[in-house]
Amino acid sequence: MKKYLTYSILIFSLILVFALKINCFARDIAGKDISISLPDQVKQGQTVFINIKTSKQLKNPVFKFKNKTYKIFKTGENQYTGLLGINTLEKPDQYRIIISDKNGYLNNKTGISVVTKDYPKQNIKVTRKMAGLSATKHELNQIGRAKYMLTSLKLRKEPPYNSPANGCINSVFGLRRYYNGKFSGNYHKGVDIKAPTGEEVRSITDGKVIFAENFRLHGGSVAVDHGHGLVSLYIHLSKISVKPGEILKADQKVGEVGMTGFATGPHLHWGLYVNGTPVDPMEGWIKPVNLCK
Ligand SMILES: [Zn+2]
Repeated sequence: MKKYLTYSILIFSLILVFALKINCFARDIAGKDISISLPDQVKQGQTVFINIKTSKQLKNPVFKFKNKTYKIFKTGENQYTGLLGINTLEKPDQYRIIISDKNGYLNNKTGISVVTKDYPKQNIKVTRKMAGLSATKHELNQIGRAKYMLTSLKLRKEPPYNSPANGCINSVFGLRRYYNGKFSGNYHKGVDIKAPTGEEVRSITDGKVIFAENFRLHGGSVAVDHGHGLVSLYIHLSKISVKPGEILKADQKVGEVGMTGFATGPHLHWGLYVNGTPVDPMEGWIKPVNLCK
């Protein structure tokens, strides 16, 4: 009888250990000496932080998502971080993430489920004036190049950062645009912060200026590379205070709020991109900002 009890306890313990291990799988998927953490679930438009802690020397660590490979950066002693931006139009489903490095210490697969986030809708009546306004080839090239900027710069400070301007949000990220009642496939790729002309616009964190110039559609524009594939785009500025190549500190002034280019009133449009994907800046990147009343 005693023997059976010992066996039962042993088997029960084994099952428990196994169950715990499976349960931990998505949060800490690696084994000894390596810990990888990422959430099980992410909302459309949100950013996933893949954090790795290890004393081993990783060589060119990367992660794969939907057949695309993204770099993982060393952020400190024994620490590495990779950023994954989830498109707001990404189909809610279970996706696979594969993490690896050239030294072979990392070779891990895990799943992440993308869940729906209900973004508000906006119906826009297209007027002749709007239909006639277009971006120049030069500005599209500059913005395209900036969005996909992937330098070896490190994202030096952890979020949440300060808002880039004092003011309230009058247009949220992800707002689905319906033109004359039909979904255009287009959505708002940033947040609009309503503020008077001349209000200071600041870099959310350290970075390097990619471009700083006046465009026809976007108006006074500054793009900042924060490292790790994270890029900020500040547009409709009335004044630009920085130059391309300039190294910025967190909260440093980049310009002033305005309504240059295509804007119906003074505001800052701030777009945040992760490896080229527009992400919701209010999801983990900056401290809460009030919506305008
Ligand atoms: Zn905007």
